[in-house]
Amino acid sequence: MQTVGSAGWKSISHAVAAKRQLKCPKCGGRELRIRERSIAYSVFEQDKNGAIPFEGHHGHDRVLGLDARCRGCDHSWKPRGVMQITDLEGYAGEPQSPYKGPSR
Ligand SMILES: [Zn+2]
Repeated sequence: MQTVGSAGWKSISHAVAAKRQLKCPKCGGRELRIRERSIAYSVFEQDKNGAIPFEGHHGHDRVLGLDARCRGCDHSWKPRGVMQITDLEGYAGEPQSPYKGPSR
């Protein structure tokens, strides 16, 4: 496995993880479906009569990791060294403007 960045970068890599861009290990393609897996939960409020509503509040807890599937060759794998979508270089981040520029 190659390390990202220069040699000097390596010493601080434990504190600030290097952003990585994923590509397919099989064909090198970059068009991927990336799935961030986490523990999901739903919270239901039971009232004084014991009634529980149909729908609860959904949320997610701990992120478990990423897996990816290549749009080109259909290869799927679990990328190493990255834990969540924000670890990836190409991630847009929090939305600031509804328009991010040209997308495909
Ligand atoms: Zn591929």
